[in-house]
Amino acid sequence: MENWREWAVRAAEWGAGYRARVRDLPVRPDVQPGDIAKQIALSPPEKAEAFDAIFADFENIIAPGMTNWQHPRFFAYFASNSAPPSLIAEYLAGAINAVCMLWQTSPAATELETKTIDWLCQAFGLPQGFLGCIQDTATTATLSAVLVMRERALDFTGNQTGLSGAPRLRIYCSAEAHSSIDRAIWFSGIGADNLVRIPIKGALRGADPAALRQLIRDDIAAGYKPAGIIANVGATGVGACDPVAELAAIAREFDLYMHLDAAWAGSAMICPEFRTLWTGAELADSIVVNPHKWLGAQIHCSAHFVRDPSTLTRTLASRPDYLHTLGHDEVVNYSEWGIPLGRQFRALKLWFVLRAYGLEGLRTMIRNHVAWSRELCDKLRNAPNFEIVTEPVLSLWSFRYVPPSAADLDALNLRLVEAINSDGRIYLTQTRVDGRVVIRFQAGQFECTRDDVMSAYDVITEVASTL
Ligand SMILES: *Cc1c(COP(=O)(O)O)cnc(C)c1O
Repeated sequence: MENWREWAVRAAEWGAGYRARVRDLPVRPDVQPGDIAKQIALSPPEKAEAFDAIFADFENIIAPGMTNWQHPRFFAYFASNSAPPSLIAEYLAGAINAVCMLWQTSPAATELETKTIDWLCQAFGLPQGFLGCIQDTATTATLSAVLVMRERALDFTGNQTGLSGAPRLRIYCSAEAHSSIDRAIWFSGIGADNLVRIPIKGALRGADPAALRQLIRDDIAAGYKPAGIIANVGATGVGACDPVAELAAIAREFDLYMHLDAAWAGSAMICPEFRTLWTGAELADSIVVNPHKWLGAQIHCSAHFVRDPSTLTRTLASRPDYLHTLGHDEVVNYSEWGIPLGRQFRALKLWFVLRAYGLEGLRTMIRNHVAWSRELCDKLRNAPNFEIVTEPVLSLWSFRYVPPSAADLDALNLRLVEAINSDGRIYLTQTRVDGRVVIRFQAGQFECTRDDVMSAYDVITEVASTL
């Protein structure tokens, strides 16, 4: 490509312009399935096309068909921020495009990854002694942890012999845990039947330690082999938090590996006042936190902390001849800490973001999201015909529209969330709490203001009144 500099500048300008006007766009685009596909050529071109035409199609077909995750009134799922310093770092990393699988294929990327993980440990108030790496997603970090649980429980024989003659392993997690855990259990060959759900209790909907202890004892008595516990802090549905220290004590008691999924809430641990939510995190064998959610480093950037990386590398490392790093046995080869061999340079965007905002800047952002979200929750609590179903955990809470005349509240609330999203001013998602449909609210987008958050009150109440 001859004039790629020019286009790179145009792309950079497009990005900055898009961010400047995104708040005037609907958060969710008004498109139906197939609307975009039918505008794309049926076959690839045989001859090179002018870049003008390609760029124009991006602007006219693709961009309007995207859900705007960087919209300041994106209150659905969890926010997934791509702060400008991250975006710039990603361009630079892409320009070099090293495959960061071994130290020698990416010395600076490897060493920066080690340093940024250490920075995060300090920022989250974790004690020294955790190492880690940056995985693509929490899903892969948790899968790696479950594979470690499996191998550790089988004396590291499972990779060789398979599971068919092995004892039946058990993994424990709360009823609120994320679906990535179910999938880790499938992919590890342990099987969904061996994922034991711990009953929850209390306002934080945390796993009940006494119930867990009983489940483990019953399993041992029945001939199963408990392998690990997955604790969660800030579960995706409504932010459930397990009593991490108590679960860690049970893990010790039964010699189980404990992984902590704090994919969303972990970022908030840069604020000391929120750390009570994960008291005992330092006792976990591994922890996953997604800076690609609430710290501004764009997806993929999932920090996976481990206390003893040797269990990870014993489980995951394979060293064929072509991967030997001759003469460099002392170096870290991060492909041995995860599932994919090829890896992107993910530490650069994290390093840029942490430096460009400083921890103080990031704390202010997170504290604002939490405070504004709580303010909105209190306002909606006092609105006629609304009830708060789960109280705020950080910036996440859930509500339900309960007009006295309605016959089927679940159906009504599903209609409400759909109508709110079609309105386009804000974007929300639903979940179920004890079987009932509720609507979630979370604030976490970097550009959102107090007005953006409070405007959700008007949208929710206005749209509800039209149903
Ligand atoms: C978002 C989330 C995940 C999944 O994260 P990915 O990085 O998309 O795999 C897992 N657990 C929790 C609690 C989450 O919030």
